[in-house]
Amino acid sequence: MPFYPPSWVPKLPFDPPDSITIADFVLEEHYGRHPLGYARNPFTCGLSGKTYSALEVKERVDFLARGLAKELGFEPNKGSEWDKVIAVFSLNTIDTIPLAWATHRLGGIQTPANAVYNAAELEYQLKSSGAKALFTCLPLLAVAKEAAQKVGIPNHRIYVLELPKEYIGNQKIPDGMKTVNDLIREGAQQPRLEALNWEPGHGAKRTAFLCYSSGTSGLPKGVMISHRNVVANTLQISTHEKPDRDAKLPPATQSGYTENVLGLLPFSHIYGLVFVCHASIYQGDGVIVLPRFEFATTLKAIQDYRISTLFLVPPIIILMTKNRDTMAKYDLSSVTAIITGAAPLGKETAEELHKMFPKWIVRQAYGLTETCTVVCATKPTDVWLGSSGSMLPGVECKLVTLEGNEITGYDQPGELLVKSPSVVLGYLNNDQANRETFQDGYMRTGDEAVIRKAPSGHEHIFIVDRIKELIKVKGHQVAPAELEAHLLTHPAVNDCAVIQVPDDDAGEVPKAFVVKSPSVGLEKSDRVVARQIQKYVEEHKARYKWLAGGVEFIDMIPKSPSGKILRRLLRDREKEKRRKT
Ligand code: AMP
Repeated sequence: MPFYPPSWVPKLPFDPPDSITIADFVLEEHYGRHPLGYARNPFTCGLSGKTYSALEVKERVDFLARGLAKELGFEPNKGSEWDKVIAVFSLNTIDTIPLAWATHRLGGIQTPANAVYNAAELEYQLKSSGAKALFTCLPLLAVAKEAAQKVGIPNHRIYVLELPKEYIGNQKIPDGMKTVNDLIREGAQQPRLEALNWEPGHGAKRTAFLCYSSGTSGLPKGVMISHRNVVANTLQISTHEKPDRDAKLPPATQSGYTENVLGLLPFSHIYGLVFVCHASIYQGDGVIVLPRFEFATTLKAIQDYRISTLFLVPPIIILMTKNRDTMAKYDLSSVTAIITGAAPLGKETAEELHKMFPKWIVRQAYGLTETCTVVCATKPTDVWLGSSGSMLPGVECKLVTLEGNEITGYDQPGELLVKSPSVVLGYLNNDQANRETFQDGYMRTGDEAVIRKAPSGHEHIFIVDRIKELIKVKGHQVAPAELEAHLLTHPAVNDCAVIQVPDDDAGEVPKAFVVKSPSVGLEKSDRVVARQIQKYVEEHKARYKWLAGGVEFIDMIPKSPSGKILRRLLRDREKEKRRKT
């Protein structure tokens, strides 16, 4: 019997359907979708105000699918979904998610790439996913073209997602390049598409999104997320939220409750993709889309669009607490709650924010790409700062010790294992990682958690440490193995290991321990060599992967007899060093 028994977790109102596409679930009126939300505009540009009603979005998705079918030769019921992979490398736009739905309408897959990638990093994802076409936006076009060329995606298979003038100014789309709107216009002239001939179960088997995560170890891997995974987590989130949403209004108007939420976090990351976009739209909320984080623009959008829920990551909250004067310039009275996730939020920061805005409810959610987002979240009526709240409906979990024994008491740390209809299909072409991560129906999160009884009497999950290799910089994933492989190609590096060290602004940053190569002459000081190594990362990797935690030279990298880097020893060594200084 698990310590957090299934009886503590509310039931879902119905089984997540397994024979429909994600768009059917979030846009159609069946399946418990918020009734009034239907009339609402799912996406509105937070800079220009451009928006489409839900009905218009449905039509645009249909036309876009027809346009894509003509352009790329994709047909809804022909070929494998793996022959119909479309990559998206873009800042957030109001068309990004509709583009995914149009791709799904053709039985295809969207693989969203982090907009801060450089050409080599994008190339890796394009190659690994086998993408046939690439959608990007003007500011990222040069990088997109460079990567596409390397993997053989021709220029005429690169398309543009339009950003508002308020963001790109007078930049013009190069002649001959097609935009999403061009494809929609062309698609409107095309014949209707045949319906997807899905049978029961298809939605649970078909990959809808291929997101990238390094999981517990190794390089970034394609995470196969099915239609049903997204549908399930959307239903889990909305069921978790429902009692508190209903309680906000008197019973007669309960079905009329919808709000504007902040669509600032990247739609390429599972948090932005599922929690912010799909769950909000299903609940009838409007997503106010911002291309990327810019402090003043974000505050202005919150003010202008009377946004009530802010989906954030800890570094943005830290910035807020450090910039009271800027915050005070805007009318933020519409805000009722913030939700933070993707990385741990320090209790002190949460308390600080709470002091600044006592009316804001500071909520935390915990999840992973591999669980198609949310596993647990605090409820507005049961906030306990530092906690990640209670399990979502439909989630089963257990905590196990390093030796694999199940934990049966409060406050005892163990690895969190999760069973949920949102647990993904697995990693693409990586049997070993699948074996290590998905065991007996459970997903091994690689995170260490404890269960505590809150003053409210409810049990809460606290994520207390990370056992796996992953580093989280401003919510972005950094895979130590990726940096280590790169460092080993530097002539001064004989061996190395990368770990995370705490950072006030970014949460964590990577630090490298390096065994210097004998070829490095004594005439060069450690400081010079360390700087050269840092520069080598800066020249080849996206900014958030830079070795902001520094480079430390060491005689030997501690390893297990099988050659596995003993990172915990290095992390303990680092903790001890920081404690002393
Ligand atoms: P990703 O797949 O990029 O969403 O990364 C998932 C990882 O982010 C988790 O395994 C955790 O290590 C970390 N994470 C996500 N949410 C939280 C949270 N609320 N508290 C602590 N760590 C978190």
